[in-house]
Amino acid sequence: MSKTFSQNKKIQDLIEKSKINVYLNGVLGLLEWDQEVMMPNKATIARSKQIALLSEIAHKDLISSENGSLLSYLEQDIQANENEFTDADKALVREFRRHYDRATKLPVEFVKEESEHNSRALESWRKAREKSDFSIFSDDLKKTIDLARRKAEYFGYEESPYDALLDLFEPGLTASQVSSIFNPLKDFTIDLLGKIQGSDVELDDSILHRNFPTNFQMAFSKELAEGLNYDFDAGRLDKSTHPFTTEFSTINDVRITTRFNEFEINTSIMGTIHETGHALYEQGVSPELDSTHLGTGVSLGIHESQSRMWENFVGRTPEFWAYWYPRFVTHFEDVVNLSEEEFFVKALNRVKPSFIRVEADEVTYNLHIIIRFEIEKALLEGSIEASDVPNVWNSKYDEYLGITPTNDSEGCLQDIHWSMGGLGYFPTYTIGNLYAAQFMQVIKKDIPDLNLQISSGNTKILLDWLRKKIHVYGAIYTPAKLCEMVSGEPLNPEYLQTYLKTKFAALYQL
Ligand code: MG
Repeated sequence: MSKTFSQNKKIQDLIEKSKINVYLNGVLGLLEWDQEVMMPNKATIARSKQIALLSEIAHKDLISSENGSLLSYLEQDIQANENEFTDADKALVREFRRHYDRATKLPVEFVKEESEHNSRALESWRKAREKSDFSIFSDDLKKTIDLARRKAEYFGYEESPYDALLDLFEPGLTASQVSSIFNPLKDFTIDLLGKIQGSDVELDDSILHRNFPTNFQMAFSKELAEGLNYDFDAGRLDKSTHPFTTEFSTINDVRITTRFNEFEINTSIMGTIHETGHALYEQGVSPELDSTHLGTGVSLGIHESQSRMWENFVGRTPEFWAYWYPRFVTHFEDVVNLSEEEFFVKALNRVKPSFIRVEADEVTYNLHIIIRFEIEKALLEGSIEASDVPNVWNSKYDEYLGITPTNDSEGCLQDIHWSMGGLGYFPTYTIGNLYAAQFMQVIKKDIPDLNLQISSGNTKILLDWLRKKIHVYGAIYTPAKLCEMVSGEPLNPEYLQTYLKTKFAALYQL
């Protein structure tokens, strides 16, 4: 498999064009990172002007007629002389075309209307959430759905308008594929949850809720990220309200954030491992692809497979903590009284239905996602109205998780995604879990002593595997193709189910 561009003159031209756009977006990303992490409050207005101006410049640069004709020329040439082009050449044309189409298929007035509406909706969502009153946000959500439908029409789709939105985040995936994966996963999870709740085993997680001073948490988070081979010479770790990873148009600047809760040590630990997983992917893309449209992770689903692999398949295992627990204790021994490692690992794996998605355990997490997918799809297809959301939400929580939110803030107003028009995003979280389980199946065959290696602190052996099989390719291969290359078959939900069943049957003695 080749990661190299050919010397074709037009491909070289396209690489140059690609880099200009990627650099412009890198500067935008830096402005946004700064806004979240460093910027003083009073700079808000000036910063939003700077971002709007630069977005416009980047948009104009992307949709230039020169880029349009270069893409058309190359598409014809590739069709006529396929063998003269490398995989990277073809992928660059494909990815550049995706970005170009995304930017040109929407009329300018529509983009303006949408962005004005989104700022309004974000405001009303914030207010609604603060007052825990969905009715404040309801009309804006109605308009968001309307805009999403119109957007889907502009982009085009074959079966469901939802497909067009999904394609923005997970290229090639359709709503009917998601349904056919999510429906059995839903039945399976509800059944497993019932068994866990019927078990006599109770896992105590009080060890996570002692008083862990946040400056100590930061020090431990840094040691963890470094231990997982995150390159601090090509990145940094900061604090933010919501953890995230950004790369600024190069593999040599990939930054992560985490968040701290003094009385919940798992928040920063799992946040740090998760974001480190995202960052390792970005830092591992082949330098040959750097600063082009291929120099980044291929989709949100594949990205999430990397963060979830490190967070769940590594970071919640007894093997991982066999190495890390003594180090953890060293960090906190002067301020916290810590008991046995066994309790700590069990606490990290406790299953308990809760209202908030980002705090959910490994088993119930996917139910949170499935509920959001079902609601988004119904809204878009018109089988429910925006004003129905709180009722539908609450009855699904009751039906799938056995709990009913007592107010809208801990219910349908908890996530920011809909207020930003991000319909179609949620499924990628569970798709990431599914990919991770499927890849892990192959990894265990390729590295039979993986657990032993991890328990002696050697996670590099896993990273090397991921680098070689996934990271280096950046966005060359589509998610579906990459999945076939890595695991020899299309996405198969069986692997996640088997993994969850085996793991939690042991923990809860089912
Ligand atoms: Mg993530």
